[in-house]
Amino acid sequence: MPTIFTHPAPIFALGAALGFRRVSPRLFWLAAFCTILPDFDVIGFRLGVSYGDLFGHRGFSHSLLFALICGALASLAAPWLRCRRALAFVLIFAAVASHIALDAATSGGLGVAAFYPISSERYFFPWRPIRVSPLALTAFFSERGLNVLRSEFFWVWLPCLSLALGAFTARWVAGKRVARAAAAIDLAQEAGFIASLDLDENAAADSRARVKAAIRAKHHRQS
Ligand SMILES: [Zn+2]
Repeated sequence: MPTIFTHPAPIFALGAALGFRRVSPRLFWLAAFCTILPDFDVIGFRLGVSYGDLFGHRGFSHSLLFALICGALASLAAPWLRCRRALAFVLIFAAVASHIALDAATSGGLGVAAFYPISSERYFFPWRPIRVSPLALTAFFSERGLNVLRSEFFWVWLPCLSLALGAFTARWVAGKRVARAAAAIDLAQEAGFIASLDLDENAAADSRARVKAAIRAKHHRQS
């Protein structure tokens, strides 16, 4: 598996891309938790469940069926999560599915039982650039630990940060355009109103200048 710090990265990127007006804090933090939820199957090691069993590590909890079940439960809890049912389903499904995809791109262990119950086979992607994470915390302070963090930075954090930054910039530019369009509508409405007052030319020009200055000031405050 990638490290516990890296699994939530795709959801942080998706949250930033969708914007925090759409994704409530409760839904966001639940989604972040669901990116690590499948690895609670390691409890099975202590109970004597072997790695390759259906309920062993990377078994049922790493299947798309499990992701669908989590998404469905989240959509039932949508009123509590303060979001639409469809969004709760999609985000929680994506959170669990992103965990499965990242594990399938790691270099070690067994693959993921992604297609259970259609197939119990364990799968990996053909290309696996992410170094598998050590289980012991002390192992991070070794050469191997540094290699793991380096590979996660390049193959997970960097693409996620790029996506988040790109989406944030696109939303900021779109917001500016909407503000400009709204200002243009304000201006057109005010111009129509001033024209309807039947003022002399100087008074009308003065009024138009005041309206423009007011809209510019409003625009400046918003940006
Ligand atoms: Zn896992």
